[in-house]
Amino acid sequence: MSVLFATSEAYPLIKTGGLADVSGALPAALTELGVDVRLVLPRYGDLALREDQTTEHLARLDVLGQPVDILHTVMPDSGVRVYLVDHPTFSARQGNPYMGPDGNSWHDNPDRFALFARAAVAVATGEVDPDWRPDVVHANDWQTGLIPALLHEAEKPQTVFTLHNLAYQGVFDRSTFERLGLPWSLWRPDGLEFWGNMSFIKGGIVFADRITTVSPNYAREIQTPEFGYGLDGLLRHRRDSLVGILNGIGSDWNPETDPALVAPYSRETLDGKAANKAALQKELGLPIRDDVPLIVHVGRLVEQKGIDLVIQALSMLGQRDVQFACLGSGERRFEQALRARAEADPERIAVRIGYDEGLAHRLEGGGDAFIMPSRFEPCGLNQLYSLRYGTVPIVHSVGGLADTVTPVTPATLRDGSATGIVMNHVDVNSILWSIDEFTALFNRPDDLSQVRRQAMAQQYDWGASARSYLELYHAISNAEP
Ligand code: ADP
Repeated sequence: MSVLFATSEAYPLIKTGGLADVSGALPAALTELGVDVRLVLPRYGDLALREDQTTEHLARLDVLGQPVDILHTVMPDSGVRVYLVDHPTFSARQGNPYMGPDGNSWHDNPDRFALFARAAVAVATGEVDPDWRPDVVHANDWQTGLIPALLHEAEKPQTVFTLHNLAYQGVFDRSTFERLGLPWSLWRPDGLEFWGNMSFIKGGIVFADRITTVSPNYAREIQTPEFGYGLDGLLRHRRDSLVGILNGIGSDWNPETDPALVAPYSRETLDGKAANKAALQKELGLPIRDDVPLIVHVGRLVEQKGIDLVIQALSMLGQRDVQFACLGSGERRFEQALRARAEADPERIAVRIGYDEGLAHRLEGGGDAFIMPSRFEPCGLNQLYSLRYGTVPIVHSVGGLADTVTPVTPATLRDGSATGIVMNHVDVNSILWSIDEFTALFNRPDDLSQVRRQAMAQQYDWGASARSYLELYHAISNAEP
């Protein structure tokens, strides 16, 4: 079985969110199952290649009259092979892959990712290496949505398209479609057309042989108007080809071996968490106290994550004896509001704006609870890390959060299945309620230990997810099992 995995980000080379984690870990896990999987990724200016890492020039393509180079390298950790698509619209820009320093999307994103799609199709059809034609092309999110559409026309490998977040669709006007030189046969409502515009993500949803998303619950939700963003009808139409497969978590998220922690700990040595909490409080300038619940958050500061509600709740804490620590970057208004809350209430609130992998690990290691009141959440990774770290997840019952966290109730405490605090609604009152629920749990040390141990016993390793993907590849291709 050979698979070309097309993605716009892959950890550790380049990351803005969960897609990068999946693109780093899933191909590595598939390789362990004996799959010949290779990545195709834009060669951004800021790829975190190791200093001694070499790239080899494989081919120069002509993409609609523009020269595009295909380089070859390997993933720094896993050794998975990577085709890098090298063009100045990627390589001459630093920073975030999708937007400029002003926080606005690059104006030529459709051109960049259409070019990327055509280069990926060239790799998939043997134009770059005549000896390698993958059995399956696995594309991810709108940036790669044109790949299944373009392959549909050609003598083609089978295609899988994964939706990591349906809210980002890559919708552009009709003149963009014309500029991109795509076949007119694709301009139709059961093609790329979306209410008079063009939609990259429709290329994947309409034309891929199979569609996956990153949790079973999200696979159901996106077939409803509330979460389908205008694509729910199309997704219902394709429901027989749609499946939800939960993401796993990488081996770098392990409290027993995490180099970012001052004191590693396990399910058996959970008390070791206290040292990490004290170190975190010290680092963040919070009072060093073991008797106060420390609730943490890491994530993109956008409405999806409910950060606006958290900010409101932080101004309504009243006399509550809790600490809150947050790391994130995103919309300026949320960054400013969080900073202002921390300045107004420094005994209880600490905020770090920016992207910091090490601090994200220390927050998981030192926090007592991790709050994630997402309005929608395709899978969510931080609640999985939190379970692994015995940091009680506080979540809204939606998407992958509902699939992975078992609410603390009298019954689940009795049968031992409870792993987190679950809100049935997402609003300020629910957040305050959840803080009170967690505080009550925190003050019942036996229950707290039980919930933490049960959380840490959950298995979300990539092996199981990779086996599900492999089954899917076999279901659509002729490759030998
Ligand atoms: P999404 O993909 O919607 O951003 P996920 O929960 O699926 O959300 O994945 C987010 C990933 O990005 C997690 O690995 C999280 O730790 C990481 N992350 C998000 N923001 C930051 C940040 N400011 N610093 C470090 N890691 C971050």
